[in-house]
Amino acid sequence: MPIFDTLAATEHEQVLFCHDPAAGYRAILAIHSTTLGPAIGGTRLWRYPTEDAALVDALRLSAGMTYKNALAGLPAGGGKAVILLGDTPPDRDQLFRAHGRFIERLGGRFVTGEDVGTTPEDMARIHLETAHVKGLVQGMGDPSPWTARGVFHAMRAAARSRWGTDALAGRKVAIQGSGNVGGHLARLLTEAGAQLVIADVDAAHAERVARATGATIVSPDAILRTEADVLAPCALGGVLDDQSIPEIRAEIIVGGANNQLLAPRHAGALAARGILFIPDYVASAGGVLSGAVDLFGWPRSELERKIEGIHDTVLRVLEIAKAEGMSPSDAAERLARRRIEEGRR
Ligand code: NAD
Repeated sequence: MPIFDTLAATEHEQVLFCHDPAAGYRAILAIHSTTLGPAIGGTRLWRYPTEDAALVDALRLSAGMTYKNALAGLPAGGGKAVILLGDTPPDRDQLFRAHGRFIERLGGRFVTGEDVGTTPEDMARIHLETAHVKGLVQGMGDPSPWTARGVFHAMRAAARSRWGTDALAGRKVAIQGSGNVGGHLARLLTEAGAQLVIADVDAAHAERVARATGATIVSPDAILRTEADVLAPCALGGVLDDQSIPEIRAEIIVGGANNQLLAPRHAGALAARGILFIPDYVASAGGVLSGAVDLFGWPRSELERKIEGIHDTVLRVLEIAKAEGMSPSDAAERLARRRIEEGRR
């Protein structure tokens, strides 16, 4: 599809292709919407099979951020940056400083933070060039404990909707990905009395989480079809597709990974199987909320309250879905669009 048709179809305000050869830096910076405020979204460092794949990722992730930020009640729009990893390991100082310079030129229209492949140290490198970055060690730091907490509250709400109680004690939860979000989520669920099955392509990550929580480890190939009450995708996106959906044996899916559905139609495929899917941008808003502490100067108590509020947002989304006979994904998008429209007015 021609690029401007793509931008029209995905409703993007601006997409930048950024290049600094001396720094080995090639990035796509997608600003989806600034209607409610500056476009906030993380920076992902990833090796993409093609440039098209990087663009598709940037466009999907940035649109997701608009909805995530609107539903989280933030005065912020949505954006995302993807830095394309080449064949040789990058000089991270040069790479992220180059990134910071491009962000600085946007004058605050885009504010970034950590995402897959980037760390608080990388945010500090960006910060040498621009103030429009969050997730710094001297600020709120790593957002993943807050993301996991939000996923936990979303899971409680889904349990209430499906089983009539928020309690997760005795429930079996299968977590795909034992990294930052998956690991913190595992600890919260263990404290709540849930039984855990986990997997990771990096065996050391799974073993570390299993040692801390007593979780059972299964192979990465088996985790999506593990028999469980809840499946929590906390690795990468696109895992819910034509192959995996028929094999899923959980009643609820709620996790931290961005863009879990390979395509929007897969929301319908899950609903047809009677599986309750909580849209990831509703469940995983804890991380951006923690960034708002640095950005908008909220006190920590406000952060706790907002993250707990993800529980009620999930219930509201599920109410709309039921009343309108639509999937939770469509209901969440409708609610987000309503908030953006109110903001525009
Ligand atoms: P992470 O890199 O710390 O953890 C991801 C883990 O998944 C890694 O341990 C990796 O080895 C594992 N993994 C990758 N592919 C896998 C597979 N096929 N099967 C099993 N394990 C696999 O990243 P994270 O910060 O925990 O983020 C996880 C997801 O949550 C990402 O999709 C990210 O975009 C999303 N997310 C993260 C945050 C945050 O605060 N970190 C906020 C919102 C959304």
